[in-house]
Amino acid sequence: MSNGERTLSIIKPDAVERNLSEKIKSIFLKNNLLVLDTKKLHLSKDEAAEFYKVHQSKPFYDQLCNYLSSGPIEVMILEGENAVLKNRELMGATDPKNAKDGTIRKLYGVSIDKNSVHGSDSVDNAKIEINFFFNK
Ligand code: ADP
Ligand code: MG
Repeated sequence: MSNGERTLSIIKPDAVERNLSEKIKSIFLKNNLLVLDTKKLHLSKDEAAEFYKVHQSKPFYDQLCNYLSSGPIEVMILEGENAVLKNRELMGATDPKNAKDGTIRKLYGVSIDKNSVHGSDSVDNAKIEINFFFNK
């Protein structure tokens, strides 16, 4: 059975390294986002570059790809009502300094690059990103 919207979440290297995966997943579950599938992996720089290619013109692109491939990550499919938007709200602003109290990035983010989580920004991109990691 599947009747909810889906989004892709990534627990980035800084958060995996600090063993925050279970704490972050519990925030999703408390907010009615079901973790449908999850896998831990370590991307190569080329794979990170492919994943983040929408950002290839940005000045921080190279740094971003180096960072995402710097250590293990955990990727997961979240499902629930308005999953894309709900996940973005739970994550908080890109820069942890600007993230609201109680958000994942406010709680755990270290800096704008080490901001602990990724979340798809639209339903269309969620489909592309889920397919990138899970072929479904
Ligand atoms: P978000 O992850 O909130 O969707 P973006 O899609 O704009 O943010 O950017 C992707 C990632 O690139 C961010 O999570 C962050 O780690 C990094 N990033 C964004 N802006 C900057 C910046 N000005 N300097 C360094 N890294 C950045
Ligand atoms: Mg983004």
